[in-house]
Amino acid sequence: MEQKNAWETYDENKMKEVFSFSDSYKEFISKCKSERECIDETIRIAKANGYQNLDDVIKEKQILKAGDKVYANNMGKTIALFLIGEEPMENGMKILGAHVDSPRLDIKQNPLYEDQELAMLETHYYGGIKKYQWVTMPLALHGIVVKKDGTKIHIEIGENENDPVVGISDLLVHLASDQLTKSGSKVIEGEDLNILVGSIPLTGDSKEKAKATILKLLKDQYDVEEEDFLSAEIEAVPAGKARDYGLDRSMIIGYGQDDRVCAYTSLVAMMEMKKSNRTCVCLLVDKEEVGSIGATGMQSKFFENCVAEVMNCTKDYSEIKVRRALKNSKMLSSDVSAAFDPNYASVMEKKNSAYFGHGIVFNKYTGSRGKSGCNDANAEYLGELRNIMEKEHVIFQTAELGKVDQGGGGTIAYILAQYNMEVIDCGVAVQNMHAPWEVVSKADVFETKCGYVAFLKHA
Ligand code: MN
Ligand code: MN
Repeated sequence: MEQKNAWETYDENKMKEVFSFSDSYKEFISKCKSERECIDETIRIAKANGYQNLDDVIKEKQILKAGDKVYANNMGKTIALFLIGEEPMENGMKILGAHVDSPRLDIKQNPLYEDQELAMLETHYYGGIKKYQWVTMPLALHGIVVKKDGTKIHIEIGENENDPVVGISDLLVHLASDQLTKSGSKVIEGEDLNILVGSIPLTGDSKEKAKATILKLLKDQYDVEEEDFLSAEIEAVPAGKARDYGLDRSMIIGYGQDDRVCAYTSLVAMMEMKKSNRTCVCLLVDKEEVGSIGATGMQSKFFENCVAEVMNCTKDYSEIKVRRALKNSKMLSSDVSAAFDPNYASVMEKKNSAYFGHGIVFNKYTGSRGKSGCNDANAEYLGELRNIMEKEHVIFQTAELGKVDQGGGGTIAYILAQYNMEVIDCGVAVQNMHAPWEVVSKADVFETKCGYVAFLKHA
């Protein structure tokens, strides 16, 4: 089967559209490097597009009707956006669901120490990473510190050109003969991912003077004490902006594109919808990279409760109607796929790989080995989606993550499928997935946004 290269179908105007869409996407991922920052920015965009906070709607006893737009913010880390449709919600919703958490290094609860006059921070990595990729590169710190009285202090250090950055060292090659015989997973070990943050001794007679300097600086600049780390969430992420990649600028290199590329395209698609027959939903969730657990992960009751609340606000609530609304829904689990990489062709099966420039990727199933742990979408659903994509001239491809028995992975798809709705994995192909800097094709980002719009219009 021949699959189309999107670039070959674009005229000059379309090219301009693709590149300008990529610019706004680059801005989004350059600015939003933590799940909290993604949700803050989503709320800003949603409000500008007429979305109201569901809490206010409930408090003011407003009645929601077709065309109304609301969002529900779950602890600043997960959000559900609803565009109320003309049909009763029990007829089902059209759901786009992506995740906004990405692999990173979290600062530990008691992180700061001094060793041989160097001030260091302990980290605990989050998500699946190749640890050796995270050394010798500029890192930025993003997050919040919560004081005992509830005051929240926002931390963002290392993104402005004049900001300092921090980082993790690697052993010089001259002394690495032992290290270089180790297997890839042991070359850099998790407990050795310690960040160097300072080296000037504080004048006076404190014991650990380099550490004292950092503590003084935190106190002066942020009003943060050492104990405040206990109630902080600070993430070390690659510092710097997303950039054009390739001499022809056809690609984007940036941090956290799994899965913010699908989160952004889902959000934009949602914002483009002004009305709909059935209710449209955009779900941006946390904790996918660690199993979708916890109050802000997809396994939480948050979304189900939101659906009940929204239905209640439309004055059309009952327990059975909520269940029907979920069961009758259709979902695109918007997540990234592995892009074919000529450097590592041996792990891919060429006929069933995702290719840069070949558009939005549908993964009928994911999982490992004999499809273990996968969500296997129904052929009937795929048939319908093919029709929708063709109707709107969206360029799409189908793929598996890699060769059979080579590895595998999963998404939030199976969790929504438990409500008995139709769900399929679908998103953007990525090279270097989970590396500090991931790469996508601009054509795919654009086609994915168009695919999501097509789904919201016609599913
Ligand atoms: Mn993902
Ligand atoms: Mn991932």
